Amino acid sequence: MIDTDKKYFNFIDGKWCDAECGERFENRNPARWDEVVGTFPKSKKEDVDKAVKAACKAFQTWRLVPVPERARLFQKLGDLMVQHKEEISKLMTREMGKILLETRGDTQEGIDTAYYAAGEGRRLFGHTVPSELPNKFNMTVRMPIGVAGLITPWNFPMAIPCWKVIPALLCGNPLVFKPASFTPATATRLIELILEAGFPPGVINLVHGSGTQVGVPLVQHPGVDLISFTGSSAVGKDINARAGAQLKRVSLELGGKNAQIVMPDANMELALEGVLWGAFGTTGQRCTATSRLILHQEIHYDFVDKLINRANAIRIGDGLDESVEMGPCIDENQRNTVHEYVQIGQKEGAELRCGGGFYEEDECKGGWFYRPTIFTGVTPEMRIAKEEIFGPVLSVIKVKDLDEAIAVHNNTDYGLSSSIYTQDVNAAFKAMRDLEAGITYINGPTIGAECHMPFGGVKETGNGHREGGWTVYEFFSEIKTIYVDFSGKLQRAQIDTGKVKEC
Ligand code: NAD
Repeated sequence: MIDTDKKYFNFIDGKWCDAECGERFENRNPARWDEVVGTFPKSKKEDVDKAVKAACKAFQTWRLVPVPERARLFQKLGDLMVQHKEEISKLMTREMGKILLETRGDTQEGIDTAYYAAGEGRRLFGHTVPSELPNKFNMTVRMPIGVAGLITPWNFPMAIPCWKVIPALLCGNPLVFKPASFTPATATRLIELILEAGFPPGVINLVHGSGTQVGVPLVQHPGVDLISFTGSSAVGKDINARAGAQLKRVSLELGGKNAQIVMPDANMELALEGVLWGAFGTTGQRCTATSRLILHQEIHYDFVDKLINRANAIRIGDGLDESVEMGPCIDENQRNTVHEYVQIGQKEGAELRCGGGFYEEDECKGGWFYRPTIFTGVTPEMRIAKEEIFGPVLSVIKVKDLDEAIAVHNNTDYGLSSSIYTQDVNAAFKAMRDLEAGITYINGPTIGAECHMPFGGVKETGNGHREGGWTVYEFFSEIKTIYVDFSGKLQRAQIDTGKVKEC
């Protein structure tokens, strides 16, 4: 029995609580808009202030807990998430619409991240480095930074919060977490399980609400030492400006306009499966979604023909139905944005080959469904070839050779994920070198990140940090350089060197 219209709360200083103002907002199922998933506190600056105060207080004790002890709690968290995987995944499908197969994958990524952290806690390495002076010892250690402000988008409601919450805590930073207001229920489940795993009060604070009412005060709060943000490039720039004014450490994981290249020597069936999954998985609402297909002219006709047939056959509907292959857009606004882009593409002269409209058959009338859409005859300068659409729209661009394919690929302000299908090792290595992107897949689609590998992009996709893998621990910790002089005398670096015989 689904628990509809449940009342959810903030979690501040070890207590579940309402917003100070007492107001609430609703979260609805994008596949069945009349279904309310829950109501949540409509928090404001005063709630952020309370949460930051609690996190500042907790920092003084949490920073002293040995890292392997913090890590032990993540083992427990991973176990709890395994136990609740199905329930979390169903809740996630209800609140943001992607199909169960994918929400299970999203939850699994959270589980993998928790177990990775459990191991990383025994490995948060520094360096020992020889000194240039005798009887002196040099090393670096990794230190906590302070209070972390974490702001997440709605399209990976469990994986992305885990990518931030888990390394922040492991490195010794208490946090204030503001999830997207489209996916606050999954975020709340994560916090509930973190508490069940045994994390102390004050270390984790959850504040629900909008970007302007909660996100901005969090970014600007002087008690917050670092900001980790995933979302659109426009919001990322705003956050960077505000946080930069206070010289905060900021990690930005932003938008994408990813492309799959298919060369004539590729395994065509593999390339076809890849682009279908990349373009229409999560209804195209992934930062790594394949929104451009760069096709060699020799194979263009046949490939497009097969692609359109397969796209037209994609089963659309409520993601809780296991036979459904593509869910809805997140809300009415997003569906309208997608449709506006389709109209822009037509005005620009691209050829609409399939889809291009709302999907409102039978039980889909009550949701924000859109048909898988494919444009051909797209040129690199068209807006549908350059701007992030965040919906099930694929722009096909025809090229004559690999050099042109790479140039077309790079002709965008973004640089997150890229892909090439080819059997030619020389072409593959050239692509690995020349594609301007943080991630390149060879014979795989643009989506499919693994939690233990660095994740992030170049150009307007970010500011150079990487989530995931070992790299995220570098962001969430500070390096301290330590010199230990056990010579018993003043030794001056650069001045007293070169006296080997005095040792
Ligand atoms: P968004 O930028 O609208 O919102 C992201 C988060 O920021 C939300 O929690 C929102 O409430 C908050 N926010 C909004 N305005 C804010 C402000 N001025 N200050 C502080 N916080 C603010 O993005 P979205 O619609 O939730 O997600 C889609 C976008 O996220 C797409 O552009 C997608 O490419 C990107 N994304 C990037 C990655 C990545 O790792 N590179 C991953 C997933 C999604």
